[in-house]
Amino acid sequence: MLRVTEIFRSVQGESTHAGRPCSFVRLTGCPMRCTWCDSEYTFTGGERMSVEDVMRQVRAHGCRLVEVTGGEPLVQREAFELIGRLCKEGFEVLVETGGYVSTEGLDERAKLILDVKCPASGEAERNHWPNLSRLRADRDEVKFVVADRGDWDYALGVIKEHDLEKRALAILISPVWGSTDLKELAELVASCGLVLRMQLQLHKYIWGPDVHGV
Ligand code: SF4
Repeated sequence: MLRVTEIFRSVQGESTHAGRPCSFVRLTGCPMRCTWCDSEYTFTGGERMSVEDVMRQVRAHGCRLVEVTGGEPLVQREAFELIGRLCKEGFEVLVETGGYVSTEGLDERAKLILDVKCPASGEAERNHWPNLSRLRADRDEVKFVVADRGDWDYALGVIKEHDLEKRALAILISPVWGSTDLKELAELVASCGLVLRMQLQLHKYIWGPDVHGV
């Protein structure tokens, strides 16, 4: 059984898939406590559901693209089974993970959006570095949520040290909502000489920062 916070259909707000119709399966629970977390409502509660129950709801949405997210979805071992089932049924599956849990054993067909936590999150020491060596350059994306200049410098260091321009399909630079100077960050991205993609969280511009499940 899985513990599920919400299943809903919306428009993908992040990554290179932003703007696409997408079903979201948001699993409950996360062992991390990022200072700027916008998903604290997923830490507790949720509804116990079988993999088949989740599949039924996702099928009913009629979207080709499905994102399994959280919380931290990979903490629940049954998430690996769900991801495999979705892939087997022909869905294009995105897995958004905070980068603390090992991605080993994940269905090869799933596409990762892997966070690398920066210092301002308070959780940078929990990055599970072997996850970076498992990235597939034709499908996986790495995301840095940047709160300040220290995070930016840290992200550049990780990108260079782990050769992420070659290892990942895209490197996403995502400002912390409401606390990062967007123009300043855009200038840094534009002038750094690396192949980065600055992303804004589209869903927050459409529905507002505190609304979820839409
Ligand atoms: S990993 Fe994600 S869900 Fe967990 S605390 Fe950090 S931002 Fe929140």
